[in-house]
Amino acid sequence: MFSEETWREISRCISCGACNEGCPFFHASERRESSGPRSRISIVRAINTKVAQLSINSIEHLYLCGSCAVCNRYCPLNIDIANLIVKIREELIRGGYVPPYSIARMRRNIEVNDHPWDSWDKGKWIQVRKSSRPKKVLFFAGCWTTKSQDMANSSYIVAKKVIKDDLGLLESSEPCCGYPLKIAGHLDAYKEVLLRARSKVEGFEDIVTPCPSCRESLRESGLNSRYLFDIIPENLEVIKHRSGKAALIGPCKNTFTDKARNILELAGYDVVDMPDWCCMDCGFSLAYTISQDLMESVASKMMKAASHLGADTVVLIDPFSYYIFSSISKRERLEVHDIYSIVLDSFRF
Ligand code: SF4
Ligand code: SF4
Repeated sequence: MFSEETWREISRCISCGACNEGCPFFHASERRESSGPRSRISIVRAINTKVAQLSINSIEHLYLCGSCAVCNRYCPLNIDIANLIVKIREELIRGGYVPPYSIARMRRNIEVNDHPWDSWDKGKWIQVRKSSRPKKVLFFAGCWTTKSQDMANSSYIVAKKVIKDDLGLLESSEPCCGYPLKIAGHLDAYKEVLLRARSKVEGFEDIVTPCPSCRESLRESGLNSRYLFDIIPENLEVIKHRSGKAALIGPCKNTFTDKARNILELAGYDVVDMPDWCCMDCGFSLAYTISQDLMESVASKMMKAASHLGADTVVLIDPFSYYIFSSISKRERLEVHDIYSIVLDSFRF
């Protein structure tokens, strides 16, 4: 069923379970074995050796993983577990196995709306005055940013302050970057979508985006794309001091959290040290399409960890996590902010 290379990686696993410690789903389920990465590998091994049969539940379990790669850090054999799970999805699709309905539907949504998710109004967030003059730099919002109007606007204003007059928007004609297809294992469809996205943004010399996954996809297509958080100046002048304890939850595979922590401390926050497994980015959106409740319980568990450490505020860098956390903030009684709104409120630059 699997390629030699993938099977070799699966076979290297000694089932020690160390990787479970890094997994947000494992912690959100009160450390249930069946929610962690070890069980994902064990299921695939059992199926390949015909000890078990492939079922809808086992395929779904392979999609309840956010590709965050925190588990990789715990593996004594240095198995790239996150990547292995994506490879397994890819090879199952190639072998004719259909992914869960909401994942399979992404392809159709992109064909019809150039957008992976159901019912979405791409251009609605824009409150800014537009100019028809051609621009050199494109602000590429990405799907989850546009789902949170406040973050879309705060990130756009930050980009505008840095880039000045040369920032353009595609509004409702912004293409899909294809990243969700890539991690879902729809590799061929991902390549097609990327080509289409490239043709739509080619007139710009440069792209800035608040979404780390859009940046990755657009770079893979050969375009210049930069992560907005990266281009925020280091020498910010404080104009309003904040107080209280803040928990920072960043995109998983990046090291930007050091810069974000610095910004929060400059703003006046006491920043608590969150456990490793408290990270989230748009890789988790596949799990969200399968179970909204599950993703909310993952965010809620992270908020409880923040409260336990004395935090009264949670600050998010990634657009998908900001969307999930703000949707449950009232329930968890913690303030939720995106990093760009703090930058705008506390600094002059
Ligand atoms: S990549 Fe992240 S979500 Fe997936 S199994 Fe590893 S820790 Fe869990
Ligand atoms: S830590 Fe590595 S060897 Fe241990 S169960 Fe996880 S993948 Fe297998």
